Amino acid sequence: QLIFLNGEFVKKEDAVVSVYDHGFLYGDGIFEGIRAYSGNVFRLDEHLTRLYDSAKSIMLTIPYSKEEMTNIVVKTLRQNKLNDGYIRLVVSRGVGDLGLNPYTCEKPTVLAIAEPLRIYPKELYETGLEIITVATRRNRSDALSPMVKSLNYLNNVLVKIEASLAGVSEALMLNDQGHVAEGSADNIFIVKDGKLKTPPGYVGALVGITRNAIMELAQAKGYEMVEGIFTRHEVYTADEVFLTGTAAEVIPVTKVDGRVVGDGKPGPVTIDLSESFRELTVTDGVK
Ligand code: PLP
Repeated sequence: QLIFLNGEFVKKEDAVVSVYDHGFLYGDGIFEGIRAYSGNVFRLDEHLTRLYDSAKSIMLTIPYSKEEMTNIVVKTLRQNKLNDGYIRLVVSRGVGDLGLNPYTCEKPTVLAIAEPLRIYPKELYETGLEIITVATRRNRSDALSPMVKSLNYLNNVLVKIEASLAGVSEALMLNDQGHVAEGSADNIFIVKDGKLKTPPGYVGALVGITRNAIMELAQAKGYEMVEGIFTRHEVYTADEVFLTGTAAEVIPVTKVDGRVVGDGKPGPVTIDLSESFRELTVTDGVK
């Protein structure tokens, strides 16, 4: 396996970063998770736009243009002979002094890792996930916006820990007002009476690229689709619930906090949109 690290491809065992890298010391950096399907990099432009927006928000200058970053992503896949896989792009503040001051870091560390990926077993896409809501909050009022895909993913890690302690593999975060925000690394959709609803970014969710694709597909297919705030009650009483994300793709949820969703099986809207999404992934991407 070959990793892109600061301008060159190195073997996995040689891909090492300094202990003085502020990405490691302070979580000072940003990342993207991108996916390739049959040789197409799905919505690469949107992922890079989000990466550059995240960088701008934390005042980090990425030392490559968007075009160069596009090439890095495509080349990392090719070097690893992957047609289908996941690409992790990371840009950290780089190596500096021990202090917090980011201005001691001379240049950002840039790396890209490409790997095959399936985060959930195939059966779960047919049976649906059991999830819970957790104590970890997604705070929309933090100075660091939840829109920034920063290397500070401790809240999200805590969600995974809470989920795992409860014996489930995913969980939902609420915001400080009790509105449903998102999963650990996925967005949520609920379906009621054939209408779809997903929380707006301002509740404290990352505006996912998979989420955007699903919203477009839903509208194109004539479903009523709205962004709106909702609480756990609406999730408990929804006909269908599903999560979306680059890694998870579209995954049905059939139980939330012990409440069976609908009839306990993935519903027709979820199945319809999952199939459309699958078709889109092979047609919509950078070769
Ligand atoms: N929410 C969070 C916190 C994430 O990290 C991710 C993953 O990128 C998502 C949602 C889903 O976003 P996307 O569909 O762009 O992968």
